[in-house]
Amino acid sequence: MSVTEVLATEKALRHRITALSRSLREVTVVEHLQKPRYVGYDTIRDADGTTHGRKKAILMSGGCSVPTCTMCPFTNYNNFGLHAANPNGLRDQVATLLHRSDDEPDYDVLALYNDGSFFARREVPADVQIDIARRVAATGVRRLVVESLPQFVTTDTLEPFVDALGDVQLEVGIGLQSADRLVRETLVNTRVTRESFEAAVALMQAHTVIPKVYLMVGPPFLTEAEAVTDVIDSTAYVASRGVDGVTVCPTRLAPNTVAWWLYQRGHYHAPNLWSVVDAVRGAHTKAAVRVACINMRGTDFDSIYPDSCERCANPIVDGLVSYSISGDLVDLPAACRCREPIQPVALDHDHILARTAATMDACEAIA
Ligand code: SF4
Ligand SMILES: [Zn+2]
Repeated sequence: MSVTEVLATEKALRHRITALSRSLREVTVVEHLQKPRYVGYDTIRDADGTTHGRKKAILMSGGCSVPTCTMCPFTNYNNFGLHAANPNGLRDQVATLLHRSDDEPDYDVLALYNDGSFFARREVPADVQIDIARRVAATGVRRLVVESLPQFVTTDTLEPFVDALGDVQLEVGIGLQSADRLVRETLVNTRVTRESFEAAVALMQAHTVIPKVYLMVGPPFLTEAEAVTDVIDSTAYVASRGVDGVTVCPTRLAPNTVAWWLYQRGHYHAPNLWSVVDAVRGAHTKAAVRVACINMRGTDFDSIYPDSCERCANPIVDGLVSYSISGDLVDLPAACRCREPIQPVALDHDHILARTAATMDACEAIA
């Protein structure tokens, strides 16, 4: 195929997958809920070995404004479809979160997620963003973590926010998912371009904001070997942009998503845990790697998690947890006969495009 044909085919597929993704989402009963849907405490370890108490909350905001991603259930648990943030509700949620009671665990890192993009004004209005920064600055928190797609991290949003935060260090989680255009923009179907990612990272670096980059392990429509290649290549790309490390997220399957729809029709499964190990081993030489969504033996939500044989599953997850803390490959399990080690293969775009179209046809035929 010529480059023009490839791009036209990609665009048509992207529209098809976007329409499917939106049609599968559900407006949930949580709409307009005025309290965070999750609040928890844990300890995190920085690259330099220091540990910090963290309070993590997921705010109910205006709902993800670009809810197109094939694997993402989060927007279904937030105000999906609302797309009009309730400023007072958000202010109240943050004020309550910041109120420290005597029996509350100590923390100096505060993560305020919102199942979407904090810097998208349809999700968190501009004046609310600034109010939140001022409130956080007044509470003794040393680091604030938020999440956002890169196109919303602009001079207009970031500069006033950083100013209002004063001495509080800002970290922004960015779901790049993949450095490969076809994988990212069509298979994962997220609205992140390489240009917007690079601009956001450069802007953050200029303001000493920490970028935390997320990569996906096992997007729909890729083989496991391709998925491993994708993580390794994407890690190398992120490192080339001057970012120290990546956080890899093994895909789990959740209802009301394209990934789930494919799974129900026999055309997708969550990645084998050994593929996660292979991806981490390959990426390890490129940058510091953490594994997120570590609750892979967990039961939160109605999800199917990455798995392997019964004997391997728990030791692999334990190994990934240890590795994420130590950064030492010896913490990863060696191998098991239940799964041959994967040899990474190059991403052949023509082949992947044809496979994706054929998979969509086959699944639609099942209906
Ligand atoms: S991954 Fe982020 S951008 Fe994509 S649908 Fe989910 S919340 Fe929205
Ligand atoms: Zn095994």
